[in-house]
Amino acid sequence: MLNRDNKTREVTDLKLEVIPRQEHGISRKDISENALKVLYRLNKAGFEAYLVGGGVRDLMLNTQPKDFDIATNATPDEVRKLFRNCRLVGRRFRLAHILFGRDVIEVATFRGHHGSEASEKNASSQSNDGMLLRDNVYGTIDEDAERRDFTVNALYYNIDDFSVRDYAGGVEDLNNRVIRLIGDPETRYREDPVRMLRAVRFAAKLDMTVNDATAAPIPALAHLLRDIPAARLFEESLKLLQSGHGLQTYKLLRDFDLFTPLFPILAEHFTEDRNSKSEQMLELVLRSTDERVATEQRINPAFMFAAMLWYPLETRAEEIAFESGLSYYDAFMVAANDMLDEQVKTIAIPRRFTAMIRDIWQLQLRLSRRSGTRAYKLLEQQKFRAAFDFLEMRGEVEGGQLKELAQWWDDFQKADRDSRNDMVQVLNKASSAKKLRRRRKTKPRRRKPNPES
Ligand code: ATP
Ligand code: MG
Repeated sequence: MLNRDNKTREVTDLKLEVIPRQEHGISRKDISENALKVLYRLNKAGFEAYLVGGGVRDLMLNTQPKDFDIATNATPDEVRKLFRNCRLVGRRFRLAHILFGRDVIEVATFRGHHGSEASEKNASSQSNDGMLLRDNVYGTIDEDAERRDFTVNALYYNIDDFSVRDYAGGVEDLNNRVIRLIGDPETRYREDPVRMLRAVRFAAKLDMTVNDATAAPIPALAHLLRDIPAARLFEESLKLLQSGHGLQTYKLLRDFDLFTPLFPILAEHFTEDRNSKSEQMLELVLRSTDERVATEQRINPAFMFAAMLWYPLETRAEEIAFESGLSYYDAFMVAANDMLDEQVKTIAIPRRFTAMIRDIWQLQLRLSRRSGTRAYKLLEQQKFRAAFDFLEMRGEVEGGQLKELAQWWDDFQKADRDSRNDMVQVLNKASSAKKLRRRRKTKPRRRKPNPES
């Protein structure tokens, strides 16, 4: 039953409320032209067509949606017949992608309940693994609403009469800024544990609170994330940490014990007051990512992962050097492989990024060696800029010599040719003086007579 008391309301049975055109704030001019084209064409062909999910939710909140998803009663094949620029995708659930250059509008056929014999007939026979294999069952809009995760995500904008259909009290929850699962939370998390991450992601992104009943089962079920394919968690981790609310999302993930299953390596470096070097670095890199997203600068996942895993890497390298007697450099390389091998078990960072992560790490070792022509050569490295930005963050965490080193590189980059030469000359002199001292030290020295003997 739908209990309207906000604190205890549990959404078990859905009750549709239709909000007519003049009573909600969504106007067609806020919807992308391409999404409108798709909606209209489906509608003209006699199908039901709705804007759904984040598109409606964000428009109701007066924010710009990231993308526009569409739900319809047309099957993927019927959708394909209507659009020349259509591709069918998805193994878990077949979806139609309508392509407009780089813009992709996703069209999903209403999902039905699984399990019942009637609907089992049109289930995809190809689905063979994973939790949601029974998902490929088409249904009605009512059933589709029940399959959605949160009440605020179960709002449908109807292109036929411009009304909004609210199936689960989503408008009320939007007004009260509450993230609430549809149905029994534990059941819904067991069906798809990624919903735990989504709860946190939306809470951070929309500045909402996770309702008590929705929040309660999470810490105990967090371990279920270990069964999620690492490729899906990679995609999800980017949405969590690189969408402009990464720092807040990270804090919430920690609160809900959801961070450890994603980054087990980091968990060993976690402290009560969240202030270890690893934790400081995490906050720094997430804050800077958020700032870059806010100012529409490019962001690179490799940079974030490199920063996140840096202190665990250093610790591991020291351990290996100590245990095996390898040089620090060699131990560092072994540790770098270890770190990435372990991390990709939970989050499948693609190869193009792991290569870049290694570059950023290796350059950290080289940035302190600047004499002769080395500094000039480093400047020409493709990943120099990323490596330098990261060095600055390390300087911020550790202070001291690292901070000085980062400052040197900052000055060096900004300096003209003559000043650069001067800077390197100073280093050359210092390093030859050092060499000389070392040579002197190794020369057998005459012993001074000990006055006491
Ligand atoms: P975003 O702004 O990040 O795009 P969104 O709500 O649109 O947010 P999507 O991942 O694009 O999220 O999914 C679109 C819609 O599909 C959601 O609003 C929700 O209704 C439904 N959905 C997505 N993932 C799940 C899931 N794991 N379980 C149930 N419903 C889901
Ligand atoms: Mg979306």
